[in-house]
Amino acid sequence: MATVKKTPLTRDPKYRKGIFYLWEEPIFNGYTSIDDMYLWNGWSCPNFDFNTAKKILDAVSKSNLDSGVKVKWGYNKENDAFWYWDDTYEGDEKTNCDTWKGEDIIVDGKTIRVYDIGSHSWCWSEMECHACGCARATETVPIKGKDDKYYCKQCYEELFVTPLKG
Ligand SMILES: [Zn+2]
Repeated sequence: MATVKKTPLTRDPKYRKGIFYLWEEPIFNGYTSIDDMYLWNGWSCPNFDFNTAKKILDAVSKSNLDSGVKVKWGYNKENDAFWYWDDTYEGDEKTNCDTWKGEDIIVDGKTIRVYDIGSHSWCWSEMECHACGCARATETVPIKGKDDKYYCKQCYEELFVTPLKG
């Protein structure tokens, strides 16, 4: 994970829900711009709420520690920002860490405080739909004794909502 200078963003007011992952597991619920205007080298640039941000940094730390990389991360209340550093970075956490400040976005008319953890430097992917294969899955369908399956809104409605109505 190299340190990449973030491009300043002009916030798009339109966001939608999405399901994102760095590796196959774990997956995280987040938000992304409706028209994907913030793709970075083809990778997703998702936003996450406070608790999800903590879970992500915890998972990334554990994964890096497992491969022998020393990690430090935290949350700074004064500037409402998460920070992350590992020993592949030059310098220490005081001189060279990634920071992600809290920002408000609007999703379905609701204001949500989000942090774009790893956006524009980590390789985030968006979950593929199990039925049509598009990378826009938003609905999680738990399956007893098996892994959850994920569907885009359109497939989800065709498969699980319309048949029940008809
Ligand atoms: Zn689909």
